Amino acid sequence: QNEKISDQEKVENKTPSQPAVFIPVDRSPEIQEARLKLPVLAEEQVIMEAVRENPCVVICGETGSGKTTQVPQFLYEAGYASEIIGITEPRRVAAVSMSHRVAKEMNLSTRVVSYQIRYEGNVTSDTKIKFMTDGVLLKEIQKDFLLQRYSVIIIDEAHERSVYTDILIGLLSRIVPLRNKKGMPMKLLVMSATLRVEDFTDNTKLFRTPPPVIKVDARQFPVTIHFNKRTPMEDYTGEVFHKICKIHRMLPPGGILVFLTGQAEVHNLCRKLRKAFPYRKETSETMRKFKKAKQKKTSLPRIDLDNYSALPVDEGDEDREAGIGDEEDEGSDLDIGDDPAKEKADPSIPLYVLPLYSLLAPEQQAKVFRPSPHGTRACVVATNVAETSLTIPGIKYVVDCGRVKKRFYDRVTGVSSFRVTWTSQASANQRAGRAGRTEPGHCYRLYSSAVFGDFSLFSEAEITRRPVEDLVLQMKDLNIDKVVNFPFPTSPSAEALVAAEQLLVSLGALKEPPLTSMKKGQARLSCPITPLGRAMASFPVAPRYAKMLALGRQQDCLPYVIAVVAAMTVREIFEDLDRPACSEDESSKLIQRRARLTQMRRLWAGQGASLLLGDLMVMLGAVGACEFAGCTPKFCEENGLRYKAMVEIRRLRGQLTNAVNAVCPEVGVFVNPKMTPPTEHQVVCLRQIVLAGLGDHLARRVQAEDILDPKWKNGYKTPLLDDPVYIHPTSALFKTLPDFIVYQEIMETTKMYMRGVSAIEAEWIPELLPQYCHFGSPLESPSPWLCSSTGTIKCHRSSTFFRVGWQLPAVEM
Ligand code: ADP
Ligand code: MG
Repeated sequence: QNEKISDQEKVENKTPSQPAVFIPVDRSPEIQEARLKLPVLAEEQVIMEAVRENPCVVICGETGSGKTTQVPQFLYEAGYASEIIGITEPRRVAAVSMSHRVAKEMNLSTRVVSYQIRYEGNVTSDTKIKFMTDGVLLKEIQKDFLLQRYSVIIIDEAHERSVYTDILIGLLSRIVPLRNKKGMPMKLLVMSATLRVEDFTDNTKLFRTPPPVIKVDARQFPVTIHFNKRTPMEDYTGEVFHKICKIHRMLPPGGILVFLTGQAEVHNLCRKLRKAFPYRKETSETMRKFKKAKQKKTSLPRIDLDNYSALPVDEGDEDREAGIGDEEDEGSDLDIGDDPAKEKADPSIPLYVLPLYSLLAPEQQAKVFRPSPHGTRACVVATNVAETSLTIPGIKYVVDCGRVKKRFYDRVTGVSSFRVTWTSQASANQRAGRAGRTEPGHCYRLYSSAVFGDFSLFSEAEITRRPVEDLVLQMKDLNIDKVVNFPFPTSPSAEALVAAEQLLVSLGALKEPPLTSMKKGQARLSCPITPLGRAMASFPVAPRYAKMLALGRQQDCLPYVIAVVAAMTVREIFEDLDRPACSEDESSKLIQRRARLTQMRRLWAGQGASLLLGDLMVMLGAVGACEFAGCTPKFCEENGLRYKAMVEIRRLRGQLTNAVNAVCPEVGVFVNPKMTPPTEHQVVCLRQIVLAGLGDHLARRVQAEDILDPKWKNGYKTPLLDDPVYIHPTSALFKTLPDFIVYQEIMETTKMYMRGVSAIEAEWIPELLPQYCHFGSPLESPSPWLCSSTGTIKCHRSSTFFRVGWQLPAVEM
């Protein structure tokens, strides 16, 4: 049944409703043979028929059944490439690697089968198949709601329920009928790895007639599940290590796939495994590299240019880490201290150990698709990218730690934290399924069946777990005023939507309609966008930062605002100074290094006026210093900066400059990568601009006389939290402790820490944040007072503290 219909037959079978041109593809015999083994090939006719007869089609099939690589090819061959066939992926990795793979399979150049992720891509005017991240397509919808350059949109990995994917499905459920009505037919395909698609199909808000669901039966071999008797709570990575050693020593050949939660864990385990079961070629190569590096007198191994954990905030990816070290460097394998595992393990059969996570360099990633060297056993140590996005061949054993790392937000307070939690039953089963792709396999779950029984059935849609102000602004810009009525596959809570609209109203991006016509609650959910809001929506950053950009032209501050915003949207620009040492010798070196880098940061923070800009000044200083030094890997390495983050900031600065210029072309800002430090006046202006953007992130130092409980010592009060928050010890203002500050975010680790802190002056508050203020008499509120019960700031307008400092000219947008 897998036999492919000949090209000739296809042409003859053509029905009138079929697109006119059938385009032959010239594939190599090996590729053709591999394709024929994919279950999705058996469904080609069914799929294409459904696509021909329906505007929207849902395809469900196990990971590895060939959906991502084959369905775009079916469409291309059937003549749907009159315009572009677009495929969205929630992860950058998948967009890049799948475009390369499909180009190769089709024997076409990357000019035709291309990809686009936030900053890079190889799309040309010849592009016919375009892989992109879901965020990229969302931005394109803003420019052209009808997506006229596309003939088909495929939403891949819909089961991941990423926010952008969910929104795209909602938008496309409207765009597709609109296109058809206008005589420009368009098709929508939604592809999912699980069968749970009711949120899409049985949602009458979304599709009035439920789209057909095509199931692709994967030829899955049985997988035996082995539960642990007990569930390790603390050191599960140690348990994982022992399990792999056992499998490797006792069980017949076959690849091992390990699921861990993050990049740091992946690297630590890889190191341990490589040490326990050395693979000689790699080891000698590593030695050679290391020796060569030593000869060059660079005692520290070079950082890997393609490995960093800094990502801008607007592209969803759970694999992101909260600031972990760049550990990909193979040379560092030699740096680890003695490991007890070495004695226990039998190193006779080498283990070919490969890491896999979403930010791994593409060349490194590609290694997992190649057969492991002769006489070795492959062991891929992965995060949940290997769960559904990428299928690794030859896996017989799966070791599942049962956990996943997720970012959690507190909806009320905005406090966020990365937490490792149990995964869902659906995910655990996906992971297990990876073992039975080519022959019967085994899955070792490092938790008991009772614990499994307590897992939630499916992962929650991301949209229900995070703030949505960016999405609400984007939707308002698409003239969707009543966001509550939007056909979300799963709707965010009404509170989250109200909170988002409130914030956007405070930022001036939305306007509250007159209250006479509606009750207050309703009004909050249908505020129209303002001209300022439109400008903000065109900047590819979160609304708070967009507001800063919109204000940035004043006092020639724009280049600095752009640099600061770029630095803030990149997750972490500094190397982690708290990297644990692996040996005593290393430990003393690390202490020295930490001291030097801390000093460096102090230098960037400057003194006097510039110090008050705090951590944002440090970011500005780092970007400026780095650009003056030519932004080299060497400079970054020596100064504790992440090279990749710096490159990304540079790119983002260019992009933001273009965006600002597009909004007000008459200004024509030119950003010279090398900027001179801001003047004192500009620093004051910058602090005010930052306050205008982060107004709801205001904190007031608790005065000594108010401290009854010692926990409030050096603590700050915020409008929403009952407990104190603290300035992070790495902050430039840790010792200064200004009375009023604004912060970028609160991250909960051992304490609630504010990151990205800048000092502000009390008298700016009534002037720049009147929307948050509750004005009274000077006697009642001698200085601005954060009131938890109302979430407002009590203050007065009297001239006693309302000195005019640096006044901001009105925003002219
Ligand atoms: P699905 O989208 O249904 O999960 P894919 O289309 O991603 O399936 O994968 C189909 C097959 O193609 C898998 O067997 C996978 O191993 C193979 N494959 C994907 N990418 C590559 C690659 N870069 N090199 C070799 N094989 C690949
Ligand atoms: Mg896929």
